[in-house]
Amino acid sequence: MMDVVDPATRSRMMSGIRGKNTRPEMLVRKFLHGHGFRYRLHSKSLPGSPDIVMRKWKVAVLVHGCFWHRHEGCRFSTTPGSNVGHWQSRFEENTVRDRRNVCELVARGWRVIILWECGLREVKAGKLNLLWLLDSIRTANCAGRLLEWPQAEGKLGPEHHSTISTVGLLT
Ligand SMILES: [Zn+2]
Repeated sequence: MMDVVDPATRSRMMSGIRGKNTRPEMLVRKFLHGHGFRYRLHSKSLPGSPDIVMRKWKVAVLVHGCFWHRHEGCRFSTTPGSNVGHWQSRFEENTVRDRRNVCELVARGWRVIILWECGLREVKAGKLNLLWLLDSIRTANCAGRLLEWPQAEGKLGPEHHSTISTVGLLT
């Protein structure tokens, strides 16, 4: 995909999205806390130190920036126009690491919910809400044990979160 963002946005994305305690993550934490959920942050005892860990429900929530974690089909998952090879290998490292962490969590009996930043932007703008997330945490009927939201650009509604089979992740 071509780089569609201007340099200022690019610089903000690269400085702001990566790492702990990002704004989208804070939004999710505040939301969950406001609905009575209690959690641990960046739990080092689990693969990949998941952002938000709810032991009571055995759910790990990962808040992913679309650029670094390569949200498939997302307009924010761009590739910078120069040093393409360098970027591609870094992205590859990230996605391999993410996949391995999810697999290990699932293998240990955790359910994993990945929330992408683009969806959380819509939440912040008041266009969507995260109420579906509360039910998803409480109900253990998450068949694939991995839930990802939103799936792709243009499909941001709660009806578009999905359970995904982890079979493909184990290869
Ligand atoms: Zn995205």
